[in-house]
Amino acid sequence: MAVALDKTKCPHDHVCPLIRICPVNAITQNTEDYPVIDYDTCINCNKCVKYCPMGAMVIKE
Ligand code: SF4
Repeated sequence: MAVALDKTKCPHDHVCPLIRICPVNAITQNTEDYPVIDYDTCINCNKCVKYCPMGAMVIKE
């Protein structure tokens, strides 16, 4: 299982708040584009899934 961005829910019109929430800095964002998860760094803590105000981070099987 891994977290993934649901692009239909992410408006990507703001600085993603999850960048600061991720404990291992696995989320980056190019200005106001969609946030990107570095799967080599992600430890699957699911913090971003719980924290995203838009519910745009989901757990994929
Ligand atoms: S699951 Fe945890 S480690 Fe992975 S991107 Fe989300 S907050 Fe970061």
